[in-house]
Amino acid sequence: MKTLSFLLIPLAALFTGCSDDDTLDTTLSTQQLSELEVADLQFLREEEKLAHDVYTYAFERYGVSIFSNIAGSEQTHTDAVLDLMTAYQVEDSASQSMGVFNNAELAKLYSDLIAKVDRSVEDALIVGATIEDLDILDLDEKATHTDNTALQSLYSNLKCGSENHMRSFTRQLNNRALSYVPTYISLEQYQAILAATNGSCGN
Ligand code: MN
Ligand code: MN
Repeated sequence: MKTLSFLLIPLAALFTGCSDDDTLDTTLSTQQLSELEVADLQFLREEEKLAHDVYTYAFERYGVSIFSNIAGSEQTHTDAVLDLMTAYQVEDSASQSMGVFNNAELAKLYSDLIAKVDRSVEDALIVGATIEDLDILDLDEKATHTDNTALQSLYSNLKCGSENHMRSFTRQLNNRALSYVPTYISLEQYQAILAATNGSCGN
């Protein structure tokens, strides 16, 4: 349902725009995204793919189910970004290959994180919390770049998922007598996330 609603809102607006006269320009102009909004979508498409690819790698390496479960969620996230990009006719910048990224920053981050995953399963769980930490920061930042309700709704759903994932990785670390210290979001924001309960994230 989430995927459908992302597609239907902009497409429905396009179709009603075509049927009318003087509302056409206004309706179509609301379909335009700024360069920053386009860049943000293309970045998030790859950032969600990065989470998927790292967790898939960690699952193959250690066979711990949290990685395959959350990798599945990240696939729906990167697909949700793609759905919105398609609706707005934004070119998809992401590679279909595992571990391949067009964005140089994400390519470097991927190789750094994979090196850490290789050290131990505990390191891999810390990598998981670190990815969610960064995702939450980036989603909060990108939410300030747009008034578009479809983009805001997407970012909100992705952030809700990241908060669920952050609680899951933290729980796994705590079960192993380890803790996570956030490096991107504030300690206050991290503690507020831990104190909250899991959301359904638009599903
Ligand atoms: Mn995600
Ligand atoms: Mn996540």
